[in-house]
Amino acid sequence: MTTVETVGGEWIRRDGDNVTLTITRCHACDARWFPPRDVCSHCASTDVHDEPTGDRGVVYASTVVRAGPAAYRPPYVLSYVDIDGVRVLAHGGTGEAFAPGTPVRLGIGEIGRTDAGPLMSYVITAEDGAR
Ligand SMILES: [Zn+2]
Repeated sequence: MTTVETVGGEWIRRDGDNVTLTITRCHACDARWFPPRDVCSHCASTDVHDEPTGDRGVVYASTVVRAGPAAYRPPYVLSYVDIDGVRVLAHGGTGEAFAPGTPVRLGIGEIGRTDAGPLMSYVITAEDGAR
């Protein structure tokens, strides 16, 4: 496993072609959180541990952002994706929003660009590879 130096890179893990995220799971109530945290936001327990997600999820909701930070070069697609009990916000896709329920796979890609260069982070692509 290699930690990638990107936006949110401390939470991204890559093993070959497989990309996963680090989440926190609470031992007391089984709640799961992303980004990882030291205290459960549901029951306030500190009996938590970090673990990796799988590399696939399902789109909960998705939209095309047409007015956003210049670094992200709108329009771009943002989606809430359910992965192993957490709902994460992810960039990814081109043109159109994903339909709810679309199976997606995690990857790493360029989410924007500044004068300093590309902004890399985790991204999603449809499982069928269409987008
Ligand atoms: Zn808890």
